[in-house]
This record gives sequence, C-alpha cells and structure tokens, in this order.
Amino acid sequence: DTQKPAFRRVMLKISGEALMGNTAFGLHPPTVERIAREVKSVHDLGVEICMVIGGGNIFRGLSGSAQGMERTTADYMGMLATVMNALAMQSALEELGVFTRVISAIPMDQVCEPYIRRRAVRHLEKKRVCIFAAGTGNPYFTTDTAATLRANEMSCEAIFKGTKVDGVYDKDPKKFDDAKRYETITYDEVLQKHLGVMDASAIALARDNSLPIIVFSLDEPGGFRGILAGEGTSTRVHG
Ligand code: UDP
Repeated sequence: DTQKPAFRRVMLKISGEALMGNTAFGLHPPTVERIAREVKSVHDLGVEICMVIGGGNIFRGLSGSAQGMERTTADYMGMLATVMNALAMQSALEELGVFTRVISAIPMDQVCEPYIRRRAVRHLEKKRVCIFAAGTGNPYFTTDTAATLRANEMSCEAIFKGTKVDGVYDKDPKKFDDAKRYETITYDEVLQKHLGVMDASAIALARDNSLPIIVFSLDEPGGFRGILAGEGTSTRVHG
C-alpha cells in the first residue's frame, strides 16, 4: 500500500519477556521471529527503527540481589542478558533480509559494536535497524530508561512501548472487567497514579524532553505497523 507513515524515526521498546512466548524462561524462537516480522513490516514503510529489548526473560538485577548477590553485579548480569536478546533479534531480522546493528553500551568488540552516537545515527540513515544493548551501561537503571535515553540521543519522534495490552489502563485489564483505557494521559498523571507504563526515571526523562510514549499491544498481529499508521487502539503519554 502507499500509506505514508506519520513517523520518520522511532524507538521500539519491548521487554525481554516478550521474546519468551508461552515458555517460562529465555527465548522462544517462533516468538522472536514473529516480532522480527512486525519490525520488518514497519521497516518496509521506510521508517528508521531503533530498538531496545529488556533482559527479564533471562535475568533481572533486583531478583538476583534479592537472592543475596551484590546489586551491581546482578545488574551487570541483567545487562548481559539484554545483549543475548539483542543478538537473537538481530539474527531473526537478518533472516528476513533486514540489515541490523547491535550496539552495546558496554564495549564487547568481538560480539557487537560499541555505542558511538554519530555512528549509530549513520546506521539509521542507511536504514539499518539499530538494536541498543546492555541498557545504559550503568547499574540501578532499567532498559526503559535506556530506551528513553537512546530515543532522545537518536532524535526519535516517539517511543513505541509494545506490551501485552493495548494501552494504559486505570487498573489491570486482565484482572478487572471495568478497567478503563486512557486514550491519552500526561507524564505527570502516570507518575502520580503509579501506572506501570515505564519506571519513573524513564517517564521523567521522556517528560523533560517532550518525547511521546505510545503504549500498544505487541500481541496484535500487524499491531506495530497499524499503530504507526494511526489505526488500532493505544495510549499516548504526552506533556
Ligand atoms: N539493567 C541495568 N542497567 C540498565 C539496564 C538494565 O542494570 O541500564 C539491568 C537490570 O538489572 C535489569 C536487567 O538489566 O533488571 C534487565 O533489564 P529490564 O529489567 O529493564 O528488562 P525488561 O523488564 O524490560 O525485560
């Protein structure tokens, strides 16, 4: 079709758990492939795509430290988990013919590229999907904050946060039938009401740079492309 997308450059943030499918841990290859197809369908529109993938399907710093590990060590393990997910997504995208770069906040030259802002921008201009791995490179942060940081640095027009539900609700829609979806909501309301869109530091960083966050369902086939074309339901978090 000839639809012209409303966005030129976007950040897609997904959790590590999105790659798990219905399994209990790690990577589910058919699910990784399904998401790669969603990304390709948007890439085919000519949209420049940045991605950040979490690591929760493999390791989370907080749960590691709850078991007695030093928090910073546990967080570094979490960051390494995001590199594995990024490599899996790179492999799935390249299988579909989409050129990608995995760019790590922690240099590991044999595995992927180090983060150099201007170089990443150049990749985007050449229509390579940039998958930013290892979070921010710092413990005590999350990949939501990493996605917001990189989206700002790459001048993305919005963050698309793919979740299990089609937006932000006043209560959990999987538990309450009368849960109400917000069409739009402000950053401050999200923070005041403690709505679990992204963690507070990510929301504040988006707010301070007027970066819209669009929450949509990743489970909806064709959902990412539809949302970019202004179809389907989502919630827009804005100023
Ligand atoms: N992490 C970190 N610094 C960052 C990003 C991530 O220390 O900048 C660690 C942290 O321990 C986190 C783990 O990596 O628990 C996995 O990331 P996250 O929990 O954001 O993954 P998701 O919930 O999105 O799957």
